[in-house]
Amino acid sequence: MTQCRGCGRQIIGGTVRKEFCDDDCRGAFHRRRYRQQKVEEAEERREARLNGNGHATPEQRKEASEAMAGIIQALTPKFVRRI
Ligand SMILES: [Zn+2]
Repeated sequence: MTQCRGCGRQIIGGTVRKEFCDDDCRGAFHRRRYRQQKVEEAEERREARLNGNGHATPEQRKEASEAMAGIIQALTPKFVRRI
């Protein structure tokens, strides 16, 4: 039996191997992964910048971490309630 990669439910039946129980789960899974990727990229850029500037002041470091928080917030989707 296969587990849906999106919600973890078991996918029953079907001869074709499926990774997701439906398109919604597939879409949600890929959105989540895309977001995670963007966060990691931003984190890498931030570290590269800090490493490139070994004399970053506490103010600069604070600024960088605040920018990071903003990026994460911007990438977090609003909760959508289905009716
Ligand atoms: Zn699912």
